[in-house]
Amino acid sequence: MSKRSTILRTGISGFLLTALAALWLWYPQYRAGRPALAPAQLPDGPFVALTFDDGPRASTTSVLLDELSRRGVHATFFVIGENVAGNEDLLLRMEREGHQIGLHTFHHRSLAQVNGADFYAEVDKLRESLSELLGREDFMLRPPFGMITPANRARAGAPIILWSVDPEDWSDTDSDRQTALILDNITDGGIILLHDIYPSSVETALRVVDELMAQGYRFVTVEELFALRGVTPENGTEYRRLPPAEE
Ligand SMILES: [Zn+2]
Repeated sequence: MSKRSTILRTGISGFLLTALAALWLWYPQYRAGRPALAPAQLPDGPFVALTFDDGPRASTTSVLLDELSRRGVHATFFVIGENVAGNEDLLLRMEREGHQIGLHTFHHRSLAQVNGADFYAEVDKLRESLSELLGREDFMLRPPFGMITPANRARAGAPIILWSVDPEDWSDTDSDRQTALILDNITDGGIILLHDIYPSSVETALRVVDELMAQGYRFVTVEELFALRGVTPENGTEYRRLPPAEE
């Protein structure tokens, strides 16, 4: 063995011994200083939930899913029953990629104007068809136009998710205007309403994601937002946003 390799071996052994000693000193402190599930361990906000109504629509929703996936962003999709048939793959993809799927009635009928059997046909039938596809039935509800009677609220069998920021993206294709409106009005715990059936809305969504992520916002599903804020969603209760506890 050469003198040089002996020096090298001694150096490496010394280094390993020092590293082991450091680990031995540090590890108990590391364990002691790490209480299980302390609130401080929750990821820092601010948080925001992107929600999309009226889809899925193959041409626009698939582009949106591609771009959200590239950014590691999860969103919530309140779908229409009429759009389920033929788009099963898209819905399964949403589920697989960590997005949340919710109810937006079967035919986009106002829940301020239906009762009884019609409510069943609009909400329960959609829940059944999604359950068949996805194997679960805990879907949240977004009533079309954000309107629902107290009687239908009691029938919902789901938390009712409204929104805190609405750029009325159905009213034009002006992504500059829509993006500015959202950025001007967003707050921690906000819920953004968009529609994944318009190319301009998809563009707006991605611009908002890029800008708010650069500002430190994290995008989560509505379910995740409830969990992060320590709020248990109640069936029949309306929610517009989930602000931080100290607010
Ligand atoms: Zn709608």
